[in-house]
Amino acid sequence: MAKIIDGQRLARALRGGLLARAGAIAEQRGAAPGLAVILVGDDAASAVYVRNKIRACEATGIQSTCLRFPSTVSNDELLATIALLNEDAGIDGILVQLPLPPHIALDQVLEAISVEKDVDGFHLYNVGGLVTGNTIFSPCTPYGVVKLLESENIAIEGQNVVVVGASNIVGKPMALMLMARDATVAICHAKTRDLAQFTILADILVVAAGVPGLIIPQMVKTGAVVIDVGINRLPDGRITGDVDFDGVSAKASCITPVPGGVGPMTVTMLMENTIASAERGLVRDDRSAENLAFQE
Ligand code: NAP
Repeated sequence: MAKIIDGQRLARALRGGLLARAGAIAEQRGAAPGLAVILVGDDAASAVYVRNKIRACEATGIQSTCLRFPSTVSNDELLATIALLNEDAGIDGILVQLPLPPHIALDQVLEAISVEKDVDGFHLYNVGGLVTGNTIFSPCTPYGVVKLLESENIAIEGQNVVVVGASNIVGKPMALMLMARDATVAICHAKTRDLAQFTILADILVVAAGVPGLIIPQMVKTGAVVIDVGINRLPDGRITGDVDFDGVSAKASCITPVPGGVGPMTVTMLMENTIASAERGLVRDDRSAENLAFQE
């Protein structure tokens, strides 16, 4: 039977360290790290995600500010709000909860966020940086997967990795982050013909398609590491991933459960990025103080 990779436990352990780092920042600059969350409209799932993020802030010593807008908010109003937050020294991270209403220009909103505060990692600079190795903030879900693999001492270099799902927020950045760690990566998507012929080759299989039961044991190599990113709500209200957990557990060497696998790590990486942003700010402040002293 596969070892179950406990994302909840790792997230709890990491949050202890984050709380200490946030405390050190608060001591040094007299203010806790700050995260601003922009929530547009009244989508129930978005409200739950935002509530979880705010709770995680409380647990890690981050000061959160939630700015709520009706779904009729204009593009300009959102851009003006982001411009103010970019200038606000108390805000280290800015997150726009997705999805946004269709009349909002998503690209404009994401590009308006200062690269130095883009803790979701969705700004074009941070996305492009995944290709060149210059990313400031990695997107939280793939970053959480990398942390899970590292915590289990699972080798990435030279491994055959198959990522099922090619979205901009999970599948594509996941593939790039694993390529950067010298894995051989294949990306599959809804139009991939014969998905199983790819997945069966994977030493590490990452599934982020949003299709419950997509991956069955016959599609998995014996001994593979299986990371299930999917979060699907079944008609009876239960939450499930994209992988047939019971069947695949009998074949895999390690597997993440849903819930309790990747999900808690995603939120924790958002906290990590926000605290890292505040720490970068302190280094910048030190450098400008040194420059001033040098000029005097
Ligand atoms: P998305 O934007 O809908 O993208 C889904 C991707 O999966 C697309 O690339 C799609 O292919 C591909 N796909 C769909 N059906 C497929 C199939 N039958 N076979 C192979 N590929 C298929 O979704 P997302 O935002 O990436 O999220 C994916 C899943 O992860 C969802 O269940 C979501 O709830 C979950 N998620 C979890 C976390 C977490 O923290 N655990 C965070 C984010 C998302 P095409 O490109 O060809 O359409």
